[in-house]
Amino acid sequence: MSLNKIKMTTPLVEMDGDEMTRIIWQMIKDILILPYVDLKTEYYDLGLVNRENTKDQVTVDSAEATKKYGVAVKCATITPNAQRVKEYNLTEMWKSPNGTIRAILDGTVFRKPILVKGIVPYIPTWTKPITIARHAYGDIYKNTELKVQAGSKAELVVTDKDGNETRALIHDFKNSDGIVQGVHNIDASIASFARACFNYALDAKESLWFASKDTISKTYDHRFKDIFAEIYENEYKEKFEAAGIEYFYTLIDDVVARVVRSEGGYIWACKNYDGDVMSDMLATAFGSLGLMTSVLVSPDGKYEYEAAHGTVTRHYYNHLKGEKTSTNPIATIFAWTGGLRKRGELDNIPELMEFADKLEKASVMTMEQGIMDKNLAAISVLENKKAVTTEEFLLAINENLKKLG
Ligand code: NAP
Ligand code: MG
Repeated sequence: MSLNKIKMTTPLVEMDGDEMTRIIWQMIKDILILPYVDLKTEYYDLGLVNRENTKDQVTVDSAEATKKYGVAVKCATITPNAQRVKEYNLTEMWKSPNGTIRAILDGTVFRKPILVKGIVPYIPTWTKPITIARHAYGDIYKNTELKVQAGSKAELVVTDKDGNETRALIHDFKNSDGIVQGVHNIDASIASFARACFNYALDAKESLWFASKDTISKTYDHRFKDIFAEIYENEYKEKFEAAGIEYFYTLIDDVVARVVRSEGGYIWACKNYDGDVMSDMLATAFGSLGLMTSVLVSPDGKYEYEAAHGTVTRHYYNHLKGEKTSTNPIATIFAWTGGLRKRGELDNIPELMEFADKLEKASVMTMEQGIMDKNLAAISVLENKKAVTTEEFLLAINENLKKLG
């Protein structure tokens, strides 16, 4: 068997994580990958214990390794809060690993649902996945805001490098108290976001939709529209035409109406707030967090694949009590297949790409045979569905994988 294992040339950056997903991580490797692939990874333990031990240096190192090798696969990790600081005896409330990695790679997150028979989207015309990309910099997420008392006047003041001031009235609060907020974005970040979206669209061979509210926000939102248009014209138009896909810009309210009426099968790029709200709407509408995949793409084409869900804490505590869990491993499996396929593509190893395709097919087959975790079984409309344990789920996928040869 081991003689026939698929060989890799370049290591995949492996970022291990926390709780239930850490358990699943090892099971996926043992049951579904190591028997078939001579796996070559550069391993980084991003589990909270090791982040504490390395003063979070391991997170930075793993992101640098992703820059070097180009492809990473990440397990879900705990973002510490006050309760976790106590639970893990932390010396600091370490920052979100995803935030740190995203900042180092200057990346954009693309979320894509896995569609299977039996899990019907709330919008039944959505027969193809809708991939959502969120610009994860600036706007209200880096704002400055104040309460204002009646009788005050609020102005926007910009001081240039020579000390010259430009002023604009925001509002004269003559008769009433109120509120005021300052937001910003930077051209470089918008341009990185645009390039990540155009590259992803070419990679996926799907059209790209982008929207803002440029009719109302004639300078701020209009800048987004202009940067996207300029980069498209100069760098991507010909490639898009050759790939038979399109770039489509419209207003945010128009795009929402079009998304609802659509059949899916495109990438929807969103400004930061729109992406925050709409990604939760899409995840719910497609049916299950356990079937939502996520990939961070940098503007220069580095990829980090992961599941969109967290570490599934409640199930982990049951696991620690010795109970058998029924947790969905599918999105984590698809993180692995995403990483392996991309590695195969970059290193020209077609067998690795075929293996990734087969593992995804076996996963979908298993769910369509009615074998799934408890949460999925609760929403599946299949008649012969059967909720199984995490391990039984993985073993059933392996049986199908073997059948695919
Ligand atoms: P979560 O881990 O996604 O879980 C929330 C609930 O959703 C679970 O308790 C479970 O519901 C259900 N669920 C999620 N994934 C599932 C799966 N694969 N199979 C079956 N059910 C699943 O979110 P959370 O509880 O808000 O966060 C837990 C930890 O994860 C936190 O420490 C957070 O910081 C971290 N987190 C990490 C990432 C990341 O690394 N990308 C993302 C989000 C959260 P039931 O309990 O009802 O069965
Ligand atoms: Mg949100």
